[in-house]
Amino acid sequence: MINFLPGDRVAVLLPVPLPGPLDYLVGDTPLTPGDFVRVPLGKHFSTGVVWGPVADPQADFICRPVKESLPVAPLSDELRRFIDWVASYCLVPQGAVLKMAMSVPKALEPEKPPPPRLIAADPLPEGYKVTPTRARVMEAAWVPQSAADLARTAGVGAETVKAMAAAGALAEVEGGEIDAGPQPDPHHPGPTLSPGQRAAADTLRARIGAGFAVTLLEGVTGSGKTEVYFEAIAQALAAGRQSLVLLPEIALSAQLLARFEKRFGVLPTVWHSDLGDAERRRAWRAISRGHAKVVVGARSALFLPFPDLGLVVVDEEHDGSYKQDEGVCYHARDMAVVRGHLGGLPVVLASATPSLETAANVEAGRYGKLILPSRHGGASLPEVALVDLRRDPPPRQQWISPPLQQAVATCLEAGEQALLFLNRRGYAPLTLCRTCGFRLQCPHCTAWLVEHKAGGRLQCHHCGHYARRPEECPNCQAEESFTACGPGVERVAEEAAMLFPEARIAIMASDLLPGPKAAAELVARMARREIDLLIGTQIVAKGHHFPLLTLVGVIDADLGLAGGDLRAAERTYQLLSQVSGRAGRAEHPGRVLLQTYQTEAKVLQALAKGDAEGFARAEAEDRRAGGWPPYGRLAALIVSGADSPMVEKVAQQLARVAPRDPSIELLGPAPAPLALLRGQHRRRLLLKSPKQTNLQAYIRHWLGLLKLPYNIRVQVDIDPYSFL
Ligand code: ADP
Ligand code: ZN
Repeated sequence: MINFLPGDRVAVLLPVPLPGPLDYLVGDTPLTPGDFVRVPLGKHFSTGVVWGPVADPQADFICRPVKESLPVAPLSDELRRFIDWVASYCLVPQGAVLKMAMSVPKALEPEKPPPPRLIAADPLPEGYKVTPTRARVMEAAWVPQSAADLARTAGVGAETVKAMAAAGALAEVEGGEIDAGPQPDPHHPGPTLSPGQRAAADTLRARIGAGFAVTLLEGVTGSGKTEVYFEAIAQALAAGRQSLVLLPEIALSAQLLARFEKRFGVLPTVWHSDLGDAERRRAWRAISRGHAKVVVGARSALFLPFPDLGLVVVDEEHDGSYKQDEGVCYHARDMAVVRGHLGGLPVVLASATPSLETAANVEAGRYGKLILPSRHGGASLPEVALVDLRRDPPPRQQWISPPLQQAVATCLEAGEQALLFLNRRGYAPLTLCRTCGFRLQCPHCTAWLVEHKAGGRLQCHHCGHYARRPEECPNCQAEESFTACGPGVERVAEEAAMLFPEARIAIMASDLLPGPKAAAELVARMARREIDLLIGTQIVAKGHHFPLLTLVGVIDADLGLAGGDLRAAERTYQLLSQVSGRAGRAEHPGRVLLQTYQTEAKVLQALAKGDAEGFARAEAEDRRAGGWPPYGRLAALIVSGADSPMVEKVAQQLARVAPRDPSIELLGPAPAPLALLRGQHRRRLLLKSPKQTNLQAYIRHWLGLLKLPYNIRVQVDIDPYSFL
């Protein structure tokens, strides 16, 4: 271990977007890399991390001294290398990545020491009178515990315990360690696995402690992937190592948490943006001490300070929400693999519909693959059929076609549950004036305002701007002329209530659920059969198990194909097969109806035939032929600013100074589809290259050729998933 001695200079990385670490002078106490330190920055102090030796030991400028080092566990070598790696890959300052690892600054502050623990004094002070009450306390105090706990176990008042301690009848014991609390038990009995599940579980168990390896765990929804990766966690627990499970939508993880508790006896530590301050602090500390053995979290959990990580699981690895496309643009699945590589530990990617990226890595032999062939307990996959809306259109201003209406009616009559899926929140996606055609648009974004019945307002789904519906049209002054166009889930629910007046209907959409608790409650109500007909957006697609749900109707199967970016078909396939997977998970067979105007579309045909493999093969061929990911590389540059002509000028300049490289194709600049976002004008440039090209080096060099005006931002998005 390198030591920096008093008088040495060290590089300290601060959680701010500076180009790199800053140099400081070591104070009275020696420091080692990873130590958290308080250092002066401008007129204030800031907390940073000792990153290593200074870049230029010869430089003779004067550095300011480190103020103090904080009494917390240092940031591991592994995490520091990970931060450097992510920064360099994503082309962002290291400090911006460190900021994600230091997301709970308060966790670094000194903690209240645990209260002293008391034990019965032996011998008792001379002449001490043992009353029956006191005897109860003495009896309880054979195990050391805090005064409060002791009073509770003995069933006496706090005053009694306090007086006994003062009289010397109870003695304090040293070394009040912070208690790790109850721990998940790897030997807690789990379900009996089927032979196929057993084989997969054994393979994963053998990977724990055996170095870096990535394994795709593939199986249709309900095949038991979760149970299988729980076995890998059990093995990591038995080896005393920590595990991290990443989920795309942590707010909806209630069922997974309940199953974890059933399997391991206690809940795991959770990590997501809805945690309160105290919970975050507690979780961060427990993780950094190694007390939290299993963490279930959203993508940001990758940057938590695990001292002894032994396994990373990425559930639903194909899910698009693993990609963050603002600030530090990173893909959590890909970075999980990097973290596994740097830490020499196994990574499990679980999915029913693996991404083309992962499939390509399996094909190239970089990742292993385990397949769970069937649904657990013999439940069969649902039968999928297309409803041709050209032949069977719904009535005007309605969205449920006659065949779907019939299917829902039959399902409800049989006492089973149905789900109508539409990936669109609100009542109507567009509101226009019947007289002049004027459309209500967000003043800050290139987006229509979406009507929400709950709350009675129009809202922008990009910036949150909202307004009441104007009484008269701002364009033609016609009164009460605005009309809703197209459906959102709220409007479908209105129609369903009219068609099925007896049914108990509920809507599941993120804006109608104030938090994870409300989401869990709705899922539980559905599972208890207090709902007959659920109408939901993509949040219903994820992981829930509803035994009596036998019919899924997709209102608009074409929705995800519009706009047609690189992954539109792939995403549609994944989402719709995931939604379809909600049907018939128990002994009742399920049925899925997809409403579409494009029955001939490849992706819908594949869904109807259940031909995942054929679809993936055809998609992969198209991508390979075009040199698109995963067979080629992409990077996007988004130029933005409040001043539209200036944004345009900078984007043009950037294109003009782009160094020539025959392997790199430059597309754009073009106005982004979201040309205005939160008041910022945006232009996009896209780089496309073969896989082996070092796009980062090229971009670094390129951006170095131009001095950007202060009011213009250039955001780099390596491996972009959003093209908006
Ligand atoms: P997936 O993650 O592939 O969708 P799950 O692990 O969620 O599948 O399993 C689906 C359902 O089947 C869950 O309710 C799970 O508890 C149950 N299950 C899976 N395997 C077994 C098993 N071997 N014994 C009992 N129940 C099982
Ligand atoms: Zn807006």
